[in-house]
Amino acid sequence: MFDRPLKILMVSSEVVPFAKTGGLADVAGSLPKALATVGNNQAGHDVRVTLPHYKGIEGARYRMDFPVLFKNRAETAIIREASIDAQYQGEHRLVPVYLVDNHHYFYRDGMYMFEDEAERFAFFCRAVLEMLPRLNWQPDIIHCNDWQSGPIPFFLKVRYRQDSFYNKIATVFTIHNLQYQGNFPKQALSLLGVGEEYFTPDLLEFYGTVSFIKTGILFADVISTVSKTYANEIQRPEMGERLDGLLRKRSADLYGIVNGINYHEFNPQTDPRIHCNYSRDSLENKRENKYALQKEMGLPVKNVPVIGMISRLVEQKGLDLVASVMERLMEMDLQFILLGTGDPYYEKTFIKIKEKYPEKADIYIGFNAILAQRIYAGADMFLMPSRFEPCGLGQLIAMRYGTIPIVRAVGGLADTVHDFNPVTGSGNGFVFSEYSTEAVWHALSRALTLYHNDPGQWQRLVRHAMEMDFSWARSAVEYLQLYQEAISRHQKRAKTA
Ligand code: ADP
Repeated sequence: MFDRPLKILMVSSEVVPFAKTGGLADVAGSLPKALATVGNNQAGHDVRVTLPHYKGIEGARYRMDFPVLFKNRAETAIIREASIDAQYQGEHRLVPVYLVDNHHYFYRDGMYMFEDEAERFAFFCRAVLEMLPRLNWQPDIIHCNDWQSGPIPFFLKVRYRQDSFYNKIATVFTIHNLQYQGNFPKQALSLLGVGEEYFTPDLLEFYGTVSFIKTGILFADVISTVSKTYANEIQRPEMGERLDGLLRKRSADLYGIVNGINYHEFNPQTDPRIHCNYSRDSLENKRENKYALQKEMGLPVKNVPVIGMISRLVEQKGLDLVASVMERLMEMDLQFILLGTGDPYYEKTFIKIKEKYPEKADIYIGFNAILAQRIYAGADMFLMPSRFEPCGLGQLIAMRYGTIPIVRAVGGLADTVHDFNPVTGSGNGFVFSEYSTEAVWHALSRALTLYHNDPGQWQRLVRHAMEMDFSWARSAVEYLQLYQEAISRHQKRAKTA
């Protein structure tokens, strides 16, 4: 399928295991591993990763430093090197990781939300590009992720356009969440090395600001997002976050590839974090996890349906819908367990429910990766009624652990969860469309009815969910096709330019 090995640079503001605030870090850490080991890897794709060297990252070796001419002065970029261990059929491959260091920009408490955010990430992007000839490594593809690396496609097309080292490099820009845009005052033009002539709506201007996500969308050879449905949704005004017009214009270059999960880390047969390992052939052990979870949470230990939720507590996640069905749910013989942190309003709302129904609901406010696994393993159902969801990982992990997702049909949820059909027995979860109390209630009722009335069918549903393949290996093949697409479009455009 691939006529030659590709050289791929993954650029991200966060990468597991070095720095993480959200799902982007998981993608940027896992996809390169899968790319380095995909198929039989005869082609030997050369994948490397780069991110800023934030305070707290340890163990990276000094590789080089050089000045970056930036804002009419020279800022020093120090490149440190580490690696990610990618395993394939018992073999180890090391994915090189380049960490861009600059004490002033990155040695701070926290990764984001600083006054000089535009300057920090414009510097990062310039340093990444300046690093490449010094490494003597010319990638075929630079894969940029979210607004923090949005300037890279712009720099390549404008600043480095005449330079033969750079002008063959094709770019992919992936949108993980369109809500986070990196919009800055007009003065940010100087950080991109251009003047007022670029401050027009068909170039960098975005409602009076300079938008880094727009630079990525506008100048990348190919754009992608993390599910096909989200790729369509963001071309409509309701979900387009004011970028729908531009995305429609580029729709021929816009793709959706659903994220994977790490099938080694998330494996109920080997996961050391859960009480009792199990597979689809030993589901009785899944019930032991339910009892252990109930005990851990201080709920009565009994065989009632347990509905789990693990989520950032933000508006996106549909928590008002959950709150609106809570009283009705609590009248039933079941338990509800929520693990999450975020907006204090939602934290309070759910703490009140726990106080009112201490025998039926438990809420853990905080981030706890071990408890998360125990909920994925111990719950029967996993609720995710999001307003919008670019991809969503929770439902994928839940299915891997045989926990049936109940989701709203948006973005990646629509692409990965298919409604159970009682006649044919097809489907891997329960899906509703309308953002309403009645719709979520109806989906919950259907799930609970099947659970109680037809345990045999429920078990088949659980097994079916566990059989789904949401591994990175599958998505990595799609990304490789996307890279080929980006290269051929880049070449075609270069010829016609
Ligand atoms: P998003 O990236 O929008 O937060 P996703 O479903 O894509 O949502 O990914 C969320 C990931 O973070 C999942 O792996 C989920 O298990 C994990 N997670 C979310 N909240 C918590 C928490 N409070 N404790 C532990 N893990 C959490």
